[in-house]
Amino acid sequence: MAKKNLDWGNIGFSYMPTDKRYVSNWKAGAWDDGALIDDPNVTLNESAGMLQYCQQVFEGLKAYTWEDGSVVCFRPDLNAERIYNSAKRIEMPPFPKEKFLEAIDAVVKGNIDWVPPYGSGASLYIRPYEFATGVVIGVKPADEYQFRIFTTPVGPYYKGGANPIAIIVSDFDRAAPRGTGAVKAGLNYAMSLHSSVLAHSAGYAENLYLDPATRTYVEETGGSNAIFVDENNTLVVPKSPSILPSITRRSIVYVAEHYLHLKVDERPVKFSEIKGFKECGLCGTAAVISPVGRIVNGDEVINLPSGMDKAGEVIGELYDTLTGIQTGKKEAPEGWIRHIC
Ligand SMILES: *Cc1c(COP(=O)(O)O)cnc(C)c1O
Repeated sequence: MAKKNLDWGNIGFSYMPTDKRYVSNWKAGAWDDGALIDDPNVTLNESAGMLQYCQQVFEGLKAYTWEDGSVVCFRPDLNAERIYNSAKRIEMPPFPKEKFLEAIDAVVKGNIDWVPPYGSGASLYIRPYEFATGVVIGVKPADEYQFRIFTTPVGPYYKGGANPIAIIVSDFDRAAPRGTGAVKAGLNYAMSLHSSVLAHSAGYAENLYLDPATRTYVEETGGSNAIFVDENNTLVVPKSPSILPSITRRSIVYVAEHYLHLKVDERPVKFSEIKGFKECGLCGTAAVISPVGRIVNGDEVINLPSGMDKAGEVIGELYDTLTGIQTGKKEAPEGWIRHIC
């Protein structure tokens, strides 16, 4: 066993099959023992619930190599809990949380040669997911499921540091008021692809979605939560039952309060307030925090005072502190780091 011969400093953010993936199947009302397997392909019946009615939920997290050579994960217990809740909302048998953590350990150890070395800026992206393998044709939950975890090494989302991005308010809605917005399910992404393609072709990095009932409040983007900094350096965090509970965002709130001693205000945030804010960032596992320099909504162009050259001061400090905790350079709060090996 030896580290794979990859150009660790220059791997992008794309899928690369690694040696092992974890698979457990739910049949006759129970999960089997689960195992690591070699085959990256999934064979499904043509009428599987996954293919017909999109019964699927997923997670995303990363494993990092620390300076002492140990390999760790950041708050995987929260991923275990979130996919448990997501599965229940889509009428899928939830995967037990303790088994989820053991499966993460197993799949990372099984792919240890693929975990990028310390200092490369890269990490091992871990994708747990569950989908309906059972056959359905009438509309109902399937009776068989697969829980699977694959991994793929990824470089930093933004090479050469995070440059501020410009985003545009979508004409489409992301999630219905009492819909599945808070659930990490593929179905939320399928319907976001059209507005995402439109935004990219117009030169914007992401879409910002507003609340669908009134289109006055800020929700989030297709795959990351939005945060703002107001003129008093208070972290303003949009709150809504249809925002996905980002683990990065929840960690940032803690870091803001306990490491940077900032005031945090979690509440519904009107789009009309943004023009009074100093900074904006988008947070999620992939990019940690992407600073936003410009937000466009129809004819209205909001240029945030932090500008398009570099991250704003507070967003920059939050980014440095959180990535410091993840990479072992800063002491983590109790329970945030799972040491795998
Ligand atoms: C996964 C996801 C996020 C980010 O969540 P993290 O736990 O921080 O990775 C934000 N919004 C949506 C819609 C997501 O699916």
